[in-house]
Amino acid sequence: MRARLARRGALWLLSIRDAFVSLIPLTLFGVLAVLLRNLPLPFHQHYLQTADGAALGGLLDRIIEGTHGVSGLALAVLVAIHLRQRQPAGPTMDDMPPMLAVGLSSLINFMLATLTIFHQRGALGFDLMLIGIGIGLFSAEYLRWASRRRWLTLFDTAHDTDTEMHAALRLCLPTIVSGLIALTAASLLAVLPGPDRLFVALAGLAQESTHGNYLAVTFATLTNQLFWFVGVHGGHILDTFGGSLFAAAPALPGGHLLNRTLFNAFVLVGGAGATLGLLAALHLNSRCGGQRRIARIAAIPALFNINEMVLFGLPVVLSPFYLIPFVLAPVSLGLLSVAALNLGWLELRPVNIPWTTPPILSGWLLTGSLAGVLLQSGGILLSTAIYWPFVKAAERQRVAGEDRLFKETAETILGNRPGRASVLRRTDETGLLGRRVLARLREDIRHGRLLLHFQPKHDGEDRLLGFEALVRWPQAPHRAITPAVTVALAEDGGAIGDLGGWVFAQALAFKEALNREGFGVLTVAVNVSPVQLADAGFAERIAAILGEHRVRPEEIEIEITESHAMPDDPTSERNIRRLAEMGFALAMDDFGMGHTSLLHLRRFDVAVIKIDGSLTREVRENGTNADIIRAITALGRARGIAVVAEFVESGAQKQALQAMGCTVFQGYHYSPPLPAAACLDYCRRHPPAATPPGRA
Ligand code: C2E
Ligand code: MG
Ligand code: MG
Repeated sequence: MRARLARRGALWLLSIRDAFVSLIPLTLFGVLAVLLRNLPLPFHQHYLQTADGAALGGLLDRIIEGTHGVSGLALAVLVAIHLRQRQPAGPTMDDMPPMLAVGLSSLINFMLATLTIFHQRGALGFDLMLIGIGIGLFSAEYLRWASRRRWLTLFDTAHDTDTEMHAALRLCLPTIVSGLIALTAASLLAVLPGPDRLFVALAGLAQESTHGNYLAVTFATLTNQLFWFVGVHGGHILDTFGGSLFAAAPALPGGHLLNRTLFNAFVLVGGAGATLGLLAALHLNSRCGGQRRIARIAAIPALFNINEMVLFGLPVVLSPFYLIPFVLAPVSLGLLSVAALNLGWLELRPVNIPWTTPPILSGWLLTGSLAGVLLQSGGILLSTAIYWPFVKAAERQRVAGEDRLFKETAETILGNRPGRASVLRRTDETGLLGRRVLARLREDIRHGRLLLHFQPKHDGEDRLLGFEALVRWPQAPHRAITPAVTVALAEDGGAIGDLGGWVFAQALAFKEALNREGFGVLTVAVNVSPVQLADAGFAERIAAILGEHRVRPEEIEIEITESHAMPDDPTSERNIRRLAEMGFALAMDDFGMGHTSLLHLRRFDVAVIKIDGSLTREVRENGTNADIIRAITALGRARGIAVVAEFVESGAQKQALQAMGCTVFQGYHYSPPLPAAACLDYCRRHPPAATPPGRA
């Protein structure tokens, strides 16, 4: 039960986080308007007072009101939809209400609830965002629960009606009931006493205490932070209810009151939660990823004390990672500032500056001395130090999560057989990441950022016979994106034609270089995937590339991978025949693992068999593997086909494979795949054999 509740809670938190992230365009829109409206430049503020400026000011005000006003409603819908997306589906999809129905229900509920509160109270009294979150969670949970209750789906229609109609009718009653519940809850909420009384009590406490200023600043900061933490504009709450807190604080030396200007400048440096410190810690700690991107976008508004971007974008809101420093940093700054004032370290000037005045500047303007600047700088350093370990922990978790997701995505891509639903069409994180990696790959192929390496092949006497070309993606976004994953992704995403064309041209250029350097006897093998073969224009494309190089097809081996089900459609067959007619030597790669290996030998004129690495790797320990290899080499001898052993990692392994009848050897025992230039050196150190075996 507790575990189930915890899982449900985690689901809620994730949905709220996702909703805030989806809200970023709206947030940014509002933040930009706030920034323009409140730019702390005298000539700008002066312009806004003129007739022309007033029109601009009015426009900005409408944007601010509109974006703020709609954010609660938007959150209600987004939270509901994100939660619906994350909820585990039951045995049939019929158990799950459609996404749109959930969004609609949440929208209705939000309107009903806010109108009710407004009617009964006159003002909403607390922030719409919190209501939006609550309504969103409730709506998604309720609709899911209700769609599983047959008695609640009164208007259930036969399944042969239009599916949209079916869903809409089925959910009529649950949607109405859900609205009524929201309405009732809002009515109850509206008659509860407002939070004003709490603030008056706190203010009384501060006034009676000998350390009233410390208490007042702590109460004010806690209020501000805790409300912001649940997504509610803490500043609004303080302005609406917290006035008594500032007024009640005992006067500071010099007759100054603890006021909002002071609070903004010295406690909330950079916006609620001393966000400048958080941003600094983020910049110094996260090398890449979402945290760093958000930190970069949020830096400019934060300079003007606007913190929505980082609070909702990172997000800090409802993130268990940031609760402690988000409270601790400004509380420490608050106590520090009051101490500095009480001890007479700085004097305040009776000036009123806009709340968007950047830190340091505001410190200077408020105190007219370096002391204010120093206090603010010290505050930023202190808050950076407080945020530091938490940012580090969040970064560690981010990296671990990213690793997990990349590995999962890579495995899904590799396991994706043709004919199965593509990873790239999935709506979950795996699909999203797959699409992102594919876009990067496409771009890197276009800009020639891929590399081709070449792995040597040797005969039984260790003489060099040739190389296999293997693609490398040095700027792959993660180490889980191996060449095999890259190729599978390119196949899945329709980029294999471009990739394969590039590989082929590079391989031919390498062969030209070999010929020029006097290593004309060496062959170069190129991998070709079944997906390429299924493309009707493949053979012509290869012929065209060949025409641009001074290489004969006989010098090139084409390795057709067996791991995918080899296509036996007429197009692939025609392509393979065309390649053979042109004179390319055909090799069956990863032989022995697929289902159709032997069939291909009958259908095509195969010159080379490459035994699958999983067979050769454990050949000395695994008797069955050895038997299979012996059977393959016997087949090779009978048909005059060279048998290549891949993954040869030691001399002993090579000898064992040779004794079993393999004639060509490739693997780390000789060399890993090397860049083209290193291969030429390799050739000089390992004189080639005169003629490749099995190819006379
Ligand atoms: P493959 O064609 O069977 O290539 C052999 C793989 O084994 C290569 O992995 C190679 O680096 C690795 N290997 C070689 N010797 C050893 C060894 O001694 N021990 C071990 N453990 N591994 C060894 P790589 O480069 O990661 O390529 C993986 C697969 O990706 C290739 O398998 C091939 O199917 C595909 N691939 C690579 N480049 C291309 C390409 O340009 N086009 C196409 N269509 N597929 C490619
Ligand atoms: Mg190969
Ligand atoms: Mg292979």
